[in-house]
Amino acid sequence: AHSQAPRSEPTDAGGAAGADPGLLFVVSAPSGAGKTSLVKALLEVEPSLQLSVSYTTRPPREGEEDAVHYHFIDAPTFERMAEAGEFVEYARVFGNAYGTAAATLRERLDAGADLLLEIDWQGARQVRARFPEAISVFVAPPSLDALEARLRGRGKDSQDVIAARMARARDELSHHGEYDYLVLNDDFAVALGELRAVVTAERLRESRQAKRHAAALAAMLAED
Ligand code: 5GP
Repeated sequence: AHSQAPRSEPTDAGGAAGADPGLLFVVSAPSGAGKTSLVKALLEVEPSLQLSVSYTTRPPREGEEDAVHYHFIDAPTFERMAEAGEFVEYARVFGNAYGTAAATLRERLDAGADLLLEIDWQGARQVRARFPEAISVFVAPPSLDALEARLRGRGKDSQDVIAARMARARDELSHHGEYDYLVLNDDFAVALGELRAVVTAERLRESRQAKRHAAALAAMLAED
């Protein structure tokens, strides 16, 4: 599914071994900020980005598919995995557990894949501790009113759940300062463009580009 060729073939004639490791993006947002729709749209325009599918004990919402939106598992299975150290990070949110499996994450990065984790602030902290090179983006709603309207409009959660999510949204929001980038999701198209700009900018870092275009740069510098 991710066989698309990189935009520019590496011209690594310099002989430095191996491809650059992939980029690890972490995206967090209060529930209802529109993060899931934004990430979905981002993956459509950036098909070389791979989304990591989390494990959760939360029951599937209508329309959610196992192994696509989450790996839906029961609490004992989650606890067993956590105890066995199978998660890179995990957190408890709204009484459910959520975690990112360690298996394949490092391997996928080392193979050069750019990965995206959609996780909460607690998970983002754990990922930063283990992958200091991770690039984190916080998606905020334009206002609490807008957030509440979106939660109600979604129509998938009960009143109690919405109230709990509103309370937790402020807690999640208070952690925006821990992130590298902040995107305000007022206008969807604008926010998507900004998210995409982060991905593009990180891919254009000189250290990465210099390796990718080593041959071209060397050839230019060799001319006198
Ligand atoms: P939801 O139940 O709405 O899908 O997700 C609730 C919250 O859990 C969101 O903030 C979402 O980002 C977070 N979440 C989803 N997967 C993970 C995960 O693997 N790890 C952590 N730490 N949070 C996650």
